[in-house]
Amino acid sequence: MGRRVIITGVPGVGKTTVVTGALKNLENEGVSYRTLNFGTYMFDVAQKEGVVRDRDEMRKLDKDIQKRLQKLAAQAIAKEEGNVIIDTHASIKTPAGYLAGLPEWVLRELMPDTVVLVETNEDQILLRRLSDETRTRDLEGSYGIAEHQQFNRAIAAAYSMFTGCSIKYITNADFLLDKAVEDMAAVLR
Ligand code: AMP
Ligand code: MG
Repeated sequence: MGRRVIITGVPGVGKTTVVTGALKNLENEGVSYRTLNFGTYMFDVAQKEGVVRDRDEMRKLDKDIQKRLQKLAAQAIAKEEGNVIIDTHASIKTPAGYLAGLPEWVLRELMPDTVVLVETNEDQILLRRLSDETRTRDLEGSYGIAEHQQFNRAIAAAYSMFTGCSIKYITNADFLLDKAVEDMAAVLR
């Protein structure tokens, strides 16, 4: 049975960068994982159905549509065997409020060993978002980012209650990417 590690963090915190670095460090130790992007599974379906053109439009969709896409993504990802990292969100900030990224029917499909929260100071996240032109990030101040990170810690506690998974906080601070990469490698090892 492979290991399932779920990696989460608010948009722009750098979770993809941290995971990529960790996997590169683990290559020569013979530790390997496939990275699956939850949002991409959802987007493939959403795009075929013609409900969105851009992945950043999905969180604005009607809540029930998001939940249907979410369930389909979880079912597809659950079929994947071996060691997998699932790149996703502990919660989604929608115009109607926070939506659980891993509600109980998603957790039951995925049954993770560990949920990682990649975090850093809200001002650093704000600046990282402003400099990323590849994505349509929501305009949000540091207060909103801090609140989102707080909500993610709270909801992650519920995820550990549902599944018995461990919850790991990893700080990805400015100029300390190496530290975050090493912490992530230790989770995956
Ligand atoms: P990302 O590329 O990780 O920022 O994900 C793109 C979009 O996919 C997010 O803004 C959400 O709309 C959606 N998404 C990703 N993971 C989940 C999830 N677990 N539950 C609901 N929506 C998700
Ligand atoms: Mg990403």
